[in-house]
Amino acid sequence: MSMPRTAAVVGGGIAGLACALRLAEAGVRVTVIETRRKLGGRATSFVDPRTGEVLDNCQHVLMGCCTNLLDFYARLGVDGAIEWHPVVRWANPPHAPDRMLPGRLPAPAHFTGSFLGMRLLTFAEKRAVARAMWRMLRMGTSGRARWEGRTFAEFLRETGQPGRAVQLFWSPVVVSACNLDVDEASAASAMQVFQEGFLASPDAPVMGLSAVPLVRLYDPAEQAIAAAGGTLRLGVSARALAFDGRRVSGVVTDEGMVDADVTVSAVPADRLEKLAGDALVRADRRLARLGEVGSSPIIGVHLRFPARVMDVPHLVLPGRGTQWLFDKGVGEDGSQHVHAVISGARGWMDLDEAAIAARVLEDVRWALPAARSVEPVSVRSVKEKRATFAVTPGFEAIRPRAMADGTERDGGVRNLYLAGDWTRTGWPATMEGAVRSGYLAAGAILGRPMVVPDLPPGRIARLLGAGR
Ligand SMILES: Cc1cc2nc3c(=O)[nH]c(=O)nc-3n(C[C@H](O)[C@H](O)[C@H](O)COP(=O)(O)OP(=O)(O)OC[C@H]3O[C@@H](n4cnc5c(N)ncnc54)[C@H](O)[C@@H]3O)c2cc1C
Repeated sequence: MSMPRTAAVVGGGIAGLACALRLAEAGVRVTVIETRRKLGGRATSFVDPRTGEVLDNCQHVLMGCCTNLLDFYARLGVDGAIEWHPVVRWANPPHAPDRMLPGRLPAPAHFTGSFLGMRLLTFAEKRAVARAMWRMLRMGTSGRARWEGRTFAEFLRETGQPGRAVQLFWSPVVVSACNLDVDEASAASAMQVFQEGFLASPDAPVMGLSAVPLVRLYDPAEQAIAAAGGTLRLGVSARALAFDGRRVSGVVTDEGMVDADVTVSAVPADRLEKLAGDALVRADRRLARLGEVGSSPIIGVHLRFPARVMDVPHLVLPGRGTQWLFDKGVGEDGSQHVHAVISGARGWMDLDEAAIAARVLEDVRWALPAARSVEPVSVRSVKEKRATFAVTPGFEAIRPRAMADGTERDGGVRNLYLAGDWTRTGWPATMEGAVRSGYLAAGAILGRPMVVPDLPPGRIARLLGAGR
């Protein structure tokens, strides 16, 4: 197919912006249609009406292995806003937090020194963890694909993981990365986190946090896309994809029709289901299973304490309902903003703010002795009911590809492209997955690969199975 002249991208989240930017840079006249008046989708900030503060809906963490996200940030000129944290701290009261950090040994052994030094787990529990890690390393990518239909808990049982190792190590990592606990998450998705995020390279697990509100990372996309000849239509909602029985001729919006040679849907599956009429769903089998894409909630809680209570940048809270705490800074009046994250939060969704605050405070006080004698001056919880798609066993099979290949399986709507973290990127619901999906769609439209390669595994890790 020759290069299209015009493209309509529905959705100004990370996936839509990444796709639109690459298309605009390549000379396609692209129009982004975004229902909200701000960019960034689920990775966003808002002004708290109670205090006037700009707050993120939730802390968003990236890692060194997020090669496409980092490429996107560099294109937007915001890569300098990411602060890197090689040390991950695990609360272990009454002791000081344990520290996990890549050491001098080459991958896959870079965590050996700090992991052995962690007091959270016994030596026998650490040996069991190492055994499971070894098995994941040796099975490689092809081996993990065979676990696609099973839960990670089955793998943990098969490798004889003690209950405490599951509760204090495996579960906090899996629920943070996959937004489902080990007994619900697909084993293949969880294994990817350990194979690529932990074992392949010492650069992969380094944690990145934005030093600015999330929305400031994505605002520059408006300027970048416009500078490359594209248009953003903020505050405009797509109502339907216009399908003439053979091709999608553009997008019907509440402000009229946007005609385009190609259309990219970069909205979550439930939204796409509303935009695609029956005729389009019948014509394009990628859309047949949209209703099966499940979701999982996350709650972010902003607490302000009258004085500093947290003296480390972040903490994992193993075995607690709250998985992470982040220090979001001390104000001029000496008060500290602490942010708590509860992933896989289904069991919390019926609680009101006061009940959420009470539970979170219990966890905060468990982890931070200085918080035991002070009350927060304000608490703001943000419930994200459909925070991420649910990476349950078998999910990979219902994730659609960016491009219909015209075969029996995908049907024939060749000028409709799909992006969004839930499409087939191989990644869990992450900002990296969203950018990948945008680059995959742009690459499919332009007929050339655009995805940035993964970090190369270390030599020994590769010899042992990483990346194979
Ligand atoms: C609470 C929370 C915590 C998270 N934590 C992390 C983390 O730590 N690390 C990480 O990597 N990821 C995290 N994620 C996941 C990450 O935010 C998402 O994977 C990513 O932002 C998805 O981007 P997207 O572009 O695919 O979808 P979205 O962000 O959902 O973008 C879709 C866009 O389409 C727009 N839209 C929808 N319908 C229409 C319509 N009809 N017309 C026009 N526009 C429409 C929406 O307004 C939205 O802007 C978290 C998500 C949440 C909610």
